[in-house]
Amino acid sequence: MLDNTQVERLEAEAVNSAKTRQPLYAARKKIFPKRAAGKFRRFKWLVMAITLGIYYLTPWLRWDRGPFAPVQAVLLDVANRRFYLFFIEIWPQEFFYVAGLLVMAGVGLFLITSTVGRAWCGYTCPQTVWVDLFLVVERAIEGDRNARMKLDAGPWTARKLMLRVSKHVIWLVIGAATGGAWIFYFADAPTLLGELFTGTAAPVAYITVAVLTATTYTFGGLMREQVCTYMCPWPRIQAAMLDENSLTVTYNDWRGEPRSRHAKKMLAAGQPVGDCVDCNACVAVCPMGIDIRDGQQLECITCALCIDACDGVMDKLGKERGLIAYATLSDYNANMMLATAGGSGPVSPPLVRTAGGAFSDQVAHFHVRKIFRPRTYVYMGFWSLIGLGLLYSLLTRDRLELNVLHDRNPQFVTLSDGSIRNGYTVKLLNMIPEPRTIVVSMRGLEGADMTVVGDDIPAGRSFAVPVEPDRLKMLKVFVRQPADQIRAPAQTFTFRVEDKASLESNEYTATFNAPEAAR
Ligand code: SF4
Ligand code: SF4
Repeated sequence: MLDNTQVERLEAEAVNSAKTRQPLYAARKKIFPKRAAGKFRRFKWLVMAITLGIYYLTPWLRWDRGPFAPVQAVLLDVANRRFYLFFIEIWPQEFFYVAGLLVMAGVGLFLITSTVGRAWCGYTCPQTVWVDLFLVVERAIEGDRNARMKLDAGPWTARKLMLRVSKHVIWLVIGAATGGAWIFYFADAPTLLGELFTGTAAPVAYITVAVLTATTYTFGGLMREQVCTYMCPWPRIQAAMLDENSLTVTYNDWRGEPRSRHAKKMLAAGQPVGDCVDCNACVAVCPMGIDIRDGQQLECITCALCIDACDGVMDKLGKERGLIAYATLSDYNANMMLATAGGSGPVSPPLVRTAGGAFSDQVAHFHVRKIFRPRTYVYMGFWSLIGLGLLYSLLTRDRLELNVLHDRNPQFVTLSDGSIRNGYTVKLLNMIPEPRTIVVSMRGLEGADMTVVGDDIPAGRSFAVPVEPDRLKMLKVFVRQPADQIRAPAQTFTFRVEDKASLESNEYTATFNAPEAAR
């Protein structure tokens, strides 16, 4: 029997030991992003104007498709199962075009991410764009960073109440406009707008607007960066798409460190000093509230506003821009090796500069050819291939289609004169927004003729039927063959449809069944 002291004690510690445990839920620290100015901010304004313009205005664009089709340029007509995109009309069986476009969007995202990092997150993601829009409203009403922080920390006064109410009311209006714009893609926008305001729209329209108003207001106004950090899976996935030649927003500590607000004192004391003056301008503008100088972080959406902020500081100091810049990991590593004498010491600014203070020739700079590498060629090739395939298919697709279903039960009927009759459901698809007369004929099956059930078309080997614009016409057709013409229990023949005006045609090979004894 062992006593207590003889039991071996292992050196192990629980990862969530009570001594070190952090609460799983950390209260949100409020972020008050300062307004940035610079080329990336201007580019973001442009992207914001384009994306919001496309979203809000597209349902109001008109497109003349003639008197038999809707005039809305982009319309998801769910009730009639049609998707209109300017001159393109997609039927349900052509949904592969939409699937193809989604695959192209996915591959395009791989391509963009592998070259310029999380550009989607930083510039075009709806969450980023709407948060930016909500921040514009917030700044216009409450002021820039310092004024907002002061207002937030101050007591509730009539002014604060008025500012806050105004801000939230405008946010809700933006949310409602966002939800409203969404439903306009599913019905004629001017008509639906009138119905919405007169209370005659379908309940689902009001419910959709209410849900989208609430989500836009909550995600764009209240949760903001938390959506990107905690809810969105994309930052996790994108990390797997980056490689050492992908551009990411990078703090170049090989030239920034050691950072100091007292460069002159340090230099006078003979200590090395980097370009970073530790002004925190990069942190103040960050909509995610992070410090890029801590290295790559999941929270960073690569909006590049910290680049603008730091470039502004460098300009004031008369130093080269690019202390924070888009850089590849391979360039960054090469420069770090240079600045640390092969990794043998801390960052030493003189190692990356010449005696005159300019950057040494050995400093690696990004070159656009780094974008073109096998990986990006594969993405580009795949993307182009899908695009060309879709385009070819779109330009050569049939607008007159034919589907035939043979009756399952009975497979055939023997008539009183001994002839054999088979029944078929013939579906004619007129996929253009104009009425047409379609000639249906049969080829093969010697001696046979057709009759159309419920129609007084005389029996024969062809007949003509009118088909409404953009509609499917279903016919019940009997095919009869005299017994002495039957050659096999299962014979194939062809249904052919033709529009004599446009010369479009289509064919379907069907089977004619007969009993063994009929031969
Ligand atoms: S660290 Fe820079 S790039 Fe990243 S989110 Fe913040 S401001 Fe944008
Ligand atoms: S803005 Fe530039 S100089 Fe200022 S703290 Fe950030 S990295 Fe350093």
